Amino acid sequence: MDSVKHLRFDVAVVGAGPAGIAAALAAADSGKTVGLIDDNPAAGGQIWRGAQNVQRHSVSAVWLERLNKSAIQLVRGARVFHAADGELAAESDDSAIQISYGKLILATGARELYLPFPGWTLPNVMGAGGLQALVKSGLDIAGKRIVVAGTGPLLLAVAAYARKCGAKVVGICEQTTRPRMARFGMKMMLVPGKAAEALHFAYELRGIPHWTDCWPVAAFGNRRLESVRISRQGQTSEIECDYLACGFHLIPNVELPRMCGCQLKNGFVDVNEYQQTSVAGTYCAGEPTGIGGLELALVEGEIAGYAATNWEDRAKHLFPKRARYQTVVRILKAAFPLRPELKNLARPDTLVCRCEDVSHERLCEYTSWRAAKLHTRCGMGPCQGRVCAPAAEFLFGWQIDSVRPPLYPVRCSSLAAIPSHSVPRN
Ligand SMILES: Cc1cc2nc3c(=O)[nH]c(=O)nc-3n(C[C@H](O)[C@H](O)[C@H](O)COP(=O)(O)OP(=O)(O)OC[C@H]3O[C@@H](n4cnc5c(N)ncnc54)[C@H](O)[C@@H]3O)c2cc1C
Repeated sequence: MDSVKHLRFDVAVVGAGPAGIAAALAAADSGKTVGLIDDNPAAGGQIWRGAQNVQRHSVSAVWLERLNKSAIQLVRGARVFHAADGELAAESDDSAIQISYGKLILATGARELYLPFPGWTLPNVMGAGGLQALVKSGLDIAGKRIVVAGTGPLLLAVAAYARKCGAKVVGICEQTTRPRMARFGMKMMLVPGKAAEALHFAYELRGIPHWTDCWPVAAFGNRRLESVRISRQGQTSEIECDYLACGFHLIPNVELPRMCGCQLKNGFVDVNEYQQTSVAGTYCAGEPTGIGGLELALVEGEIAGYAATNWEDRAKHLFPKRARYQTVVRILKAAFPLRPELKNLARPDTLVCRCEDVSHERLCEYTSWRAAKLHTRCGMGPCQGRVCAPAAEFLFGWQIDSVRPPLYPVRCSSLAAIPSHSVPRN
C-alpha cells in the first residue's frame, strides 16, 4: 500500500497557476503556514507552463522567483480528488495525501472547450492550448503545418507560440464574426497593458491568414491528420496540415469548488468582494470566477490571499485594480459567443464521449445528462466528463448539475486513506 502523508496548513491553496501563486504569496505575508497544491510537476499553471527557463525579468520569472524564495510549501504533482469537513484528499505518484487547513483558497483555473466534428478524434487533432502544452513539454513542431481553429484570444497566443517554435501556421480559423472581432480589438486597446500585447501579436502573426466566420467541419487522414475541411463565410475548402489545434474558448474548473459546497452563478463560482465563496473561510480566485486573463487572475489571487489572512485593508486597496481587469470578462463574453452552426457539426456516428465511445446518435435518444450517463456511460471514463459534459451542455442544452467524488480516477489505496468521518457519501 502507498504511504499516507498528513499535511496541515493555516491556508491551503489549490492550483499553482498565476491566481494560486499570487494568493499563496499574499497569504504568506502574514507569517501563517501556506501550502500550495498543484497536479503539475512545477508551479505556473497553464500560461506559465515551462516558464522556469524564460528571461529573468519577465512577469512569470518575477512571480516564480518570489515563490521560490518564500516559505510556502509547494506540494507538486498532487491532484486533489476529494474535499469534505475541512480536509482535502490528494494523490501523487507514490502517496495519498491528507491535507487539513484553516482557510482554503481554490484557484483551479480553466480548461479548453472541445466540440465534436467528424475526425476530431484523429491523432494530431488536439486542443489549441493542448498543443501548446505539448510543445512546452518538448514536442518538436519545427517545419510542421498547423491550422489553429476555434475561438478566443488563446488562438492568437498559440499561433504566435507555434510560429516561434518553427512551425508553419497555415491559418487561424476564428468562428466569431468580423465585426465582433473588430470590436474586441478596439475594446481591449483600452484595458491597461493590452494595447502593447495586441501590437506584439500583430507583429508576431504578420502574414498569417486570420479568417473570421470560419470553423473546422471535418478532419481527414488515414492513421493521423492529413487535412482539415473548413467553412469560411459559407464556403468550404480543404487545407493540408500536420496538426489541427482547436479549442472553443475556456470553461472554468468548478468541480472542486462545487464539491466544497460553493454556490455557482451562471456557471462560475459566486464570490463576494473579498473573493470569499458562499462557504465561510473558502475563497476562490482566477478563472473559476470568470474568464478574464492573467492580470485578473493575479489580482484576484492577491485579494483572496489577503482576505484569508484577515488583511482586509490590503485586499481593499486592490479593488480598483481588479475592477479595471474585470472589464476583460465582459469583453471576452461579448466577443466570442458560440454560433449555433457549431451544434450541427457532429454526424450521427461522431463520438461525443471519446473515453467511452458514445456517439452523437446515441445521446440524441435522451433528454438529460443524467439519463444519458446512466444509459450510455457517457462522461464516466477516465476524464470523468471533463471533455464531453461541456460539449453536451452546448449541443443539447443539458444542465450538468452534479459532481461526484472522487473527482478523478484514483488508486483504491488513496480512497482507503480518506478518514472515515469524511468518506464520500453520495
Ligand atoms: C490550455 C490553456 C492554455 C493557455 N495558454 C495561455 C497563453 O498562452 N497565453 C495566455 O495569455 N493565456 C493562456 N491561457 C489562459 C490563462 O490560463 C489564464 O489567463 C490565467 O492565467 C489563468 O490563471 P489561473 O491561475 O486562474 O489558472 P491556471 O493557470 O489554469 O492554474 C490552475 C492550476 O490549478 C491546477 N489544478 C486544477 N485542479 C486541481 C486539482 N483538483 N488538484 C491539483 N491541482 C489542480 C491546474 O493543473 C493548474 O496548474 C491558457 C489557458 C488554458 C486552459
